Parts: sequence; structure tokens; C-alpha cells
Amino acid sequence: MRPKWEQDLIRSEVFHWLARRAETTGRSTYTREELSNFEFHGQKIPLLDQSRGIRNPADFEATLSVMTSADRKGNPYADIDIGDGLIRYAYREGDGGDNVKLRRAAELRVPVVYFEQVKIAGPFYAHFPMYVHDDPGARMVTLAFDDDIRFQIELSGMPAAERAHAERTILARLHQPRFRDIVMTAYESRCTICNLGHLRLLDAAHITPDTDPNSIVHVTNGLAMCKIHHAAYDAKLLGINADFEVKINQDLLEETDGPMLEHGLKDMHGQKLRKLPNEKKYWPDRDRLAERFKAFVG
Ligand SMILES: [Zn+2]
Repeated sequence: MRPKWEQDLIRSEVFHWLARRAETTGRSTYTREELSNFEFHGQKIPLLDQSRGIRNPADFEATLSVMTSADRKGNPYADIDIGDGLIRYAYREGDGGDNVKLRRAAELRVPVVYFEQVKIAGPFYAHFPMYVHDDPGARMVTLAFDDDIRFQIELSGMPAAERAHAERTILARLHQPRFRDIVMTAYESRCTICNLGHLRLLDAAHITPDTDPNSIVHVTNGLAMCKIHHAAYDAKLLGINADFEVKINQDLLEETDGPMLEHGLKDMHGQKLRKLPNEKKYWPDRDRLAERFKAFVG
């Protein structure tokens, strides 16, 4: 077994690596090959198990990652509802085995990565850090983003330089925006208005603004939008009605200008939303859209 501090350090390195990779590639997905080639100090530590849904490195006390494949027939253990950011994951048959380390992750309160494959043979989305909550009665665990639980890294015994690095890495990941994460997953990182697919140019927009007490952290209160369309939505220059139709402010429609105005904005007028989540239950809430649309109409 590796020392506890080293296990913690590797865990935080995994989060750091996933985040950095998403920033440099502009993609929010990872191929199986990429995930199999993660290295820590030159030593390969695959982040996915070859054949199982739970990745339990032999020299780790607790689970490192949990995965669901798009082929549910091969994976009867998971019941996923990303809508509220919770993932329910059933124990494997029998006692012992993979369950021991999964339940240990709950006891130790160490964060895990949840890899979600949306399409068969497709790449994986990574959700992290997620915490495991054990429900032995139901023989299942729930994975959740907990804003109030902090990764308690065991700092005693960790060399000073590595401790400083670990603290920085963990701090950077603490406020992993859960809302952005679930919205980007549902919209496959594409702008709902124009279909732009560059993660770095995308925001998770709220339909009911988060300053409103009726706002909720749920995918149905979100829309993936590129920066310009998000800004236009917030500035009431662009509206979306309950039928998922895009409207552009009348003054803008009467203006003549360069390609951003002509194509980026005016051409969107009267169009339907171009990108919606594959599953209807994740589509934008029509009542919330209608309420927000009133503000656009003025
Ligand atoms: Zn856009």
C-alpha cells in the first residue's frame, strides 16, 4: 500500500491533469487511451479499469474512479441522473471485492472522478471531485459534488514542496463549478444558439438568473451558450421563448453592420435552438424560458 499522503497527492494530480488537459485541448472529453496513459512521476496509473466500472488501484486504499459506459447492457450497476448532479451507483453483487474500496472512499471522504461515456465507443466526460455517500441498506452509493466537504489531505508526513503543490491543486479544484459541468455535459459542449463547439468560448447560462431566489442548480435551468450569445441573452438583445425560438431585439434587426451583427446575431432571429440535450428530461424548462422571455419583450 502506498503511504496515505502519496495516495492523496496522486488523487489531486489526477484532478489537476484532467483540468489542464481540458484547458489545453479545449475539449471536455477524454479518450480511453488518454485515460489509460496517465502518469505520476513516470509511473503509469490508468484512470479506468480495463473491464470493470470501478477503478481500484491495488496500492490504493480507496476507489480512484467510477465509470459508466454508454452500453448499459454491459453496465447494469448505474442509475444516472445528471440533472441534479447526483449519480447513484449500485454495489456489485456479493460482498467484498470492488465494494470494499468504494465504501472506503465514503468513509475516508476522499474525492473520486466519475467518468461518463455518453455514446457507445465514444469518449468520456469527467466529473470531479465527487464524494461518495454510502447507503448500505439500499446497497448503493451516491456520488455528489459537495461544496461543503473539503478533501482532507493528510499533510503530516508529506514533503513540504509536495504539500504546497497539493494544497494549490486542491484549492483550484474546490470550486469546480458543478452547474457548468452538468450543462456542458448535457449540451455536449455546444452553444444552443449557434452550435459553436469550443469549450473555452462557452458558458453555462442560467435561465432564471442565479440572483433570483427561484433559481436552481439543475440542468433544466441552464443553457450552454457561447460568450457572445450569453452576453446578448443577459443584455436582453436576444430572447428565447417557450417554443425554443430565438428572437433578436428589434433595434438590432434594423441596424446594419459587420458579420458579427449580421450573421452572429441577426441571422439567429426566428431560428429554433440548434443544440439541445439528447434526453428530453434535460431540455430547458419552458416555464422558466417564458418568464425570462417577458423580460426580453420588456
Ligand atoms: Zn453561440
